Amino acid sequence: MAKEYAKDFYNSPAWKKTRKAYYIFRRGQCERCAREFEAGRRRLEDINAGVIVHHKEYITPDNLHDPSVALCFDNLELLCEEHHNKEHKSKAKRYSFDKHGRVIEV
Ligand SMILES: [Zn+2]
Ligand SMILES: [Zn+2]
Repeated sequence: MAKEYAKDFYNSPAWKKTRKAYYIFRRGQCERCAREFEAGRRRLEDINAGVIVHHKEYITPDNLHDPSVALCFDNLELLCEEHHNKEHKSKAKRYSFDKHGRVIEV
């Protein structure tokens, strides 16, 4: 789910254009599935279609309006749902915030 502060960004024509261009650039294929295939850990027929254009450096209220983060191909990754879930779950599990807002390892 998109964060509330990022809603306008995800609805913006600039993002929609970038997302579409990136999808075509990656031929609609999940990049991590493709990498696993190249490494011999996934069969060709098991490569999933990319459905989500993910930001490697996560979008925050601070970098939302910085095109070099929000709209730059270098910061994007086309992922299938499986790999996108893995990405966010693994990050969320490792770190959290305590009641003072400090980052803690979980
Ligand atoms: Zn994948
Ligand atoms: Zn993501």
